[in-house]
Amino acid sequence: MLVDTHTHLNFPDYDKDLTQVISRATAEGIDYLIEVGTDVASSKRSIELAQEYPFIYASVGIHPHDATSSTEKDWQEIKTLAQGQKVVAIGETGLDYHYNYSTKEDQQRLFERHIKLALELELPIIIHNREATEDCLGMLKRFSDRPLKGAFHCFSGSKETAEECLSMGFYISFAGPVTFPKSHRLREVVKSVPVERLLLETDSPFLAPQSRRGKRNEPAYLRYVLPVFAQLYGLSEEDIARITTFNAMRLFGIGGNGNDNQNSRVAYKIRNSLYLNITNRCPNSCSFCPREESPYVKGHYLGLDPDEEPSSQEVIKAIEEMGDVKAYKEVVFCGYGEPTERLDVIKTVAKHLREKGAKKIRLNTNGQGDLINGRPISRELGGLIDSVYISLNSANSEEYKALCSPKYGDRAHSALIDFARTAKETLPDVTLSVVNVPGLDVRACEQIARELGVGFKIREYNDLG
Ligand code: SF4
Ligand SMILES: [Zn+2]
Ligand SMILES: [Zn+2]
Repeated sequence: MLVDTHTHLNFPDYDKDLTQVISRATAEGIDYLIEVGTDVASSKRSIELAQEYPFIYASVGIHPHDATSSTEKDWQEIKTLAQGQKVVAIGETGLDYHYNYSTKEDQQRLFERHIKLALELELPIIIHNREATEDCLGMLKRFSDRPLKGAFHCFSGSKETAEECLSMGFYISFAGPVTFPKSHRLREVVKSVPVERLLLETDSPFLAPQSRRGKRNEPAYLRYVLPVFAQLYGLSEEDIARITTFNAMRLFGIGGNGNDNQNSRVAYKIRNSLYLNITNRCPNSCSFCPREESPYVKGHYLGLDPDEEPSSQEVIKAIEEMGDVKAYKEVVFCGYGEPTERLDVIKTVAKHLREKGAKKIRLNTNGQGDLINGRPISRELGGLIDSVYISLNSANSEEYKALCSPKYGDRAHSALIDFARTAKETLPDVTLSVVNVPGLDVRACEQIARELGVGFKIREYNDLG
């Protein structure tokens, strides 16, 4: 499961063995690839390839290098081609002040035309930016009130530039150079890009990864960049492949958009842990809760209406479909909501997991379970749950209310502290966690954990519960 979001198989480099190159891509698990035009002829060729191969999609445009030499007729042709079937993006376009094969004025004029065309057709743009960041971002900002979307391809800029691109809603795509031994700075930039906005590309025939460096690149070599991203994000290669595939599907609207007709995942894997999604309900409404933005977590669809919530038996079936539970580092009741809304399911499923020999069973909770269930619940979890992560989120009730808008109001913060205290008496491992949002007094939160004698952890933004 992989998408190569930027290839030029339309270049003469592949004249002799294109069929083999495409077979190798399929054999290496490339689900889709986006063939990118750089002028009228290559854009046409991209569309031809997309028509020939179901898994190829096309992007049409004129590269900034050709801005001066291209004619009005060329542009009119691009506009017509852009309406073609399986054309999913406009580009590559952008600015390249490194070679200056075209004047800056011509490049900017053409870039603007691409942007307007992308907006008109509601397609994403594929942006090439080399040594032109200020002008490139400046031009894009002029359209910031419009629903412009797209990707910066073969990103080589700074962290600050990446941040600006992300704040404008763009995806960031990296190519083979992340694997080069000296690309330390680039790898640091990668780490600053949320995995939810990451795309992979080969930019074939250019920029082959380290193990093939100097050779002609091809989509099959996308495999060689995966381990680097897995290492940088602390995820598995499988996670990176799934998440970036999902990102590409959504941006380019390919493969069912990564959006429609998905069944909610009840049991899903991230790294080597198995997560259980049993409810989307929650008595809180935290300002940072990713549920508000999207029903997806790391490429898994977790949307669950209350009437779709799985029964204990359905959860157990979903677990069984994920293979032997003993193979997982831990099984986590997490989901896109508050698991203790379904205490009975937790108890029945945890008992089943125990019997099946799960190594570790964890509960991620907002600590409101006593209020939700109208009774203290930690004793009922004894012997079933090994570890509980409670979202503390703030050091006092007023801040908690401001950040989490709890249904239980003033009682919410003290209830979670009480739950942590009682859980410590019954469960082997209790940890308070916070999401590091601006203005949070992390030290005061840590102090609360110390006084209770429980662990303390600063959580990832989209680690729910
Ligand atoms: S407690 Fe967790 S699931 Fe509930 S709103 Fe807050 S972050 Fe979202
Ligand atoms: Zn480029
Ligand atoms: Zn390119």
